[in-house]
Amino acid sequence: MATYLELPTRGRMPILGLGTWQSLQGAARGAVKFAIDVGYRHFDCAYMYQNESEIGDALRQKLQEGVVRREELFIVSKLWSTFHERSLVKEVCQKTLAALQLDYLDLYLMHSPMGFKAGEELFPADGNGMIIPSDTHFLDTWEAMEELVDVGMVKAIGVSNFNCEQIDRLLSKPGLRHKPANNQEELIKFCQFKGISVTAYCPLGAPNWPGSKPDHISLFDDPQIKEIALKHNKMAAQVLIRLQIQRNVSVIPKSVTPQHIEENFKVFDFELTEEEMETLLGFKKRYRICALSECKNHKDYPFFED
Ligand code: NDP
Repeated sequence: MATYLELPTRGRMPILGLGTWQSLQGAARGAVKFAIDVGYRHFDCAYMYQNESEIGDALRQKLQEGVVRREELFIVSKLWSTFHERSLVKEVCQKTLAALQLDYLDLYLMHSPMGFKAGEELFPADGNGMIIPSDTHFLDTWEAMEELVDVGMVKAIGVSNFNCEQIDRLLSKPGLRHKPANNQEELIKFCQFKGISVTAYCPLGAPNWPGSKPDHISLFDDPQIKEIALKHNKMAAQVLIRLQIQRNVSVIPKSVTPQHIEENFKVFDFELTEEEMETLLGFKKRYRICALSECKNHKDYPFFED
């Protein structure tokens, strides 16, 4: 079973990474250090998570101690939506590199196809709580991201929260120089067919998600998942992570709890049967955790399709 995904850039992305969203207030540093000791090499970061400098401290310490070499690490970050103007892309990528204390990123994703009004606020909203868009277009933003590859600041670029139609528009952009290497969303068959690797975010169903869910859905309490886990003498979280690995999807469970970080990494010593895969993939409880409903009026809102 693959432990890496090959990228079109000929780079290799460790299939399992550590998510870092909501790893705040001193927790991110310890989590990343512990994860490196456990064996994690792929870290999913973002400007928006506001913890990149803590993560940078952890990376620098482990690199200085010689626990890991830079070329063994796969560091992902994301261009936040308030920086979609061409003139802002390089500057904010430099900020991320400085915070992470790195010379380059292995993968830089456009966090979303939607540009927001530039400024200090991460989520600039009008009086009704709806996002104030920018008049940028993601195809122009992409061009500015391509320049980051040219100057060596990032090894590969990709997208996140794009729908099929938006990916198609990007792929058919005249003069496209760097194809997206990764999409951090579902659309698995579509992306893999187009040669774009996929990363599953919220792989555990995001029990920590701040917004409300339609019903209370806990994947950890699901009887079918629990039964499969019991058969393999594993935990539900390990089954959910293994599910993504077996379909060649990179997976980035977030954790700041050492026991969980360790548990989530012990997923390479068992295999789900075809029948178990079918059961898990047959789940019909479809709902979108990351619906970004405050952006529904945005011209590039990606989630009308399903
Ligand atoms: P996850 O599905 O990874 O769930 C994380 C939650 O599960 C945390 O509360 C964590 O708590 C808990 N947890 C982790 N491991 C276990 C375990 N073994 N047993 C029980 N509980 C566990 O949700 P996220 O929303 O964090 O998604 C993962 C990552 O994906 C993010 O951190 C981020 O890096 C990325 N992401 C990207 C998005 C994008 O727009 N591109 C959107 C959303 C997420 P604890 O910390 O205590 O272990």
